[in-house]
Amino acid sequence: MTNLLNVDDILERALGGYDLSPPEGVVLLTQTEPEVIADIRNTADTLRQQQVGDIVTYIINRNINFTNICEQHCSFCAFRRDEGDTGAYWLDWGQIIEKTTDAVQRGATEICMQGGLNLQAKINRKSLPYYIKLVETIKQEFPQIHLHAFSPQEVQFIAREDGLSYTEVITTLRDAGVGSMPGTAAEVLNDNVRQILCPEKIDTATWLEIVTTAHQLGLNSTSTMLSGHIETPQQQIEHLEKLRSLQKTAINQGYPAQITEFILLPFVGQEAPKPLRRRVGTDQPVLKDALLLTAVARIYLGNWIPNHQPSWVKLGLHGATEALGWGCNDIGGTLMEEHITTSAGAIGGTCMEVQTLQAAIKSVQRPYQQRDTLYQQVRSL
Ligand code: SF4
Repeated sequence: MTNLLNVDDILERALGGYDLSPPEGVVLLTQTEPEVIADIRNTADTLRQQQVGDIVTYIINRNINFTNICEQHCSFCAFRRDEGDTGAYWLDWGQIIEKTTDAVQRGATEICMQGGLNLQAKINRKSLPYYIKLVETIKQEFPQIHLHAFSPQEVQFIAREDGLSYTEVITTLRDAGVGSMPGTAAEVLNDNVRQILCPEKIDTATWLEIVTTAHQLGLNSTSTMLSGHIETPQQQIEHLEKLRSLQKTAINQGYPAQITEFILLPFVGQEAPKPLRRRVGTDQPVLKDALLLTAVARIYLGNWIPNHQPSWVKLGLHGATEALGWGCNDIGGTLMEEHITTSAGAIGGTCMEVQTLQAAIKSVQRPYQQRDTLYQQVRSL
């Protein structure tokens, strides 16, 4: 094994179509020489070209974060509030319809809906009926819109509150009109990291169980990673390894759904609670670290998860555009509004016009194409 841990050999194996081992991934992530990093970048870019071609996709979508009232206290979260706090909000049904109507008029094919874990969000003292009403409020008016909604953490919250199994919750949400599951709340899939970052959140095994259940029940999911805080390169690779093996299971077992994309979410600390912010020591993501991890993620996952998206909210559009040369083939969505990272002090803004995303893609001499949530081509009008 040791003679395989030479960077040139590792990159050659990757270009030959082999899956890298975790130690090989760590070797790539711990390189510091500019020429070696350039080789890693070139390998990621070549694999991206081979695996998905040159087209860079984007989606017209809108985020709706229906409440920021949350029972948990994740150490990176500047979004959450207690009920009654300044800035606490909870959208009513009319506001949800209004936001969706506006999104549809602006050409959106997707609503991405997630919210805080609000213990008051119940109908007849049950959580699931409240979430069903969120779904039906949108789907009855706009049956054509794809609802990308409710993280594994929200699924566990509903199941816990109502004493249901994950299968019961996901099946009911799916039947009500949820089209896919955001792979958020993954943060870093290592329980030691989670103990510091988000001690009240579901553990690694539960996150994996809920996403696998979604795949078995025909709901595709995305996958994410919150990087650049307290995690080590070993833990970053452990995270990628867990995602790859989850996806392998979905594909090899013939589940009706799988992971559609990987999105890297570098940590933004500017407004984050002080202890973590102090410990991490940076307010904005370190672009060079995010780009190296972007490239390694392409090399590590690309055989199994072909679509890779940077976050313009976290990196700014300039950083996200740069990431297109480090293995990414998608630039994300218009979002129309974004609260979670913006509360944390992100520089990227909250809304992108389609023309701005197209111009960013054109600036790196790549063709662009609108897509839907499941990476099907959308014909522009
Ligand atoms: S990250 Fe999500 S679960 Fe954690 S405190 Fe913020 S809103 Fe709540």
